[in-house]
Amino acid sequence: MKLVFATANQNKAREIQVLIPEVIKILSLNDIHCTEEIPETQATIEGNAAQKAFYVYENYSHNCFADDTGLEVEALQRRPGVLSARYAGEEKNAEKNMEKILAEMQGMTNRNARFKTVISLVIDGKEKQFEGVVNGIILQEKRGDKGFGYDPIFQPEGYSRSFAEMELSEKSKISHRGIAVNKLVEYLKTLG
Ligand code: IMP
Repeated sequence: MKLVFATANQNKAREIQVLIPEVIKILSLNDIHCTEEIPETQATIEGNAAQKAFYVYENYSHNCFADDTGLEVEALQRRPGVLSARYAGEEKNAEKNMEKILAEMQGMTNRNARFKTVISLVIDGKEKQFEGVVNGIILQEKRGDKGFGYDPIFQPEGYSRSFAEMELSEKSKISHRGIAVNKLVEYLKTLG
């Protein structure tokens, strides 16, 4: 089976490739000559994932999946959530995004947060969604230099290291995206 993975983010492409069985051939947006920016204008993570997958299905006639992720911080009323990529501005700068959260949370004792990924799979025009959540805390300062995005300030529950202090293989086993991708893979296996 051929499936387009609607992402321009090479980090995510790498993470997902190690989780998906080789029998499923993943095409990139480049492979199908989709070079324009896909709109992500919905108010929810679920809505954005669906918008991206349907965009590729409707405009390029390929079965497709797309993911959308947000960091939800309890003490910040679940912000940045759907705004995670551009929390500190349109330039989507990971350092500035982390600084903004650390500044907003200064002196706060409730550090609970979670990452949520939603994958929208569109096959023959029908959609199915798969969700992955990992609970954890926002650290007082950045730790580690692996990973990407908010990884240096997020420590998953049950661990004493941040996501940025973990190897990709270790992170993928417990991460929001890993959980959602495993659900996607299990579903794809049932299609034969
Ligand atoms: P996206 O929807 O996957 O593009 O992610 C939205 C925002 O969340 C971006 O700013 C990413 O950097 C951040 N993000 C997504 N996944 C992760 C992750 O696994 N670790 C840290 N940050 C992430």
